[in-house]
Amino acid sequence: MTVRLRPHHLLCMLTFVGKGYTEAFTENYIRIAARLSAGEDILVVEGPDDICAPMLGEADMYCLNESVADRDIKASKAVEALLAAAAGPGASIWLNVTFLQRMRAAFGDGSIREACQRCEWSPLCTGIAASGFDGVLVEPRGCQPAQG
Ligand code: SF4
Repeated sequence: MTVRLRPHHLLCMLTFVGKGYTEAFTENYIRIAARLSAGEDILVVEGPDDICAPMLGEADMYCLNESVADRDIKASKAVEALLAAAAGPGASIWLNVTFLQRMRAAFGDGSIREACQRCEWSPLCTGIAASGFDGVLVEPRGCQPAQG
């Protein structure tokens, strides 16, 4: 199976610890995090994705806002510059340990976070990155810190 993600969710998945807009949103996201951790690949899509799905019935349809599309453009450009590989709609990405470590390092130093500007979750995500991504739910085998 393949997980469909819009570009800025390539960043958001790095710091997902089980918090989100609504209970339905969070429960769905937890299932997606488990699928990604189990090795399902990612298809980058334009517009609402598998993470957005529970929000599409909401009155405010935040996922269709122009500002969110702008976040996607900034995220795909940043990830493409980092990885020297396609990260826009249509790209396929395998979330392996090497990919995740490079993404985490760049997220932690802020070099791929232009898309995070004016995001209400930014302080939380900054703190999670500063903690060494403690408690995140997208964690492929081999990424876990060594046990004592
Ligand atoms: S600050 Fe917002 S856009 Fe950036 S990773 Fe966190 S939730 Fe996603």
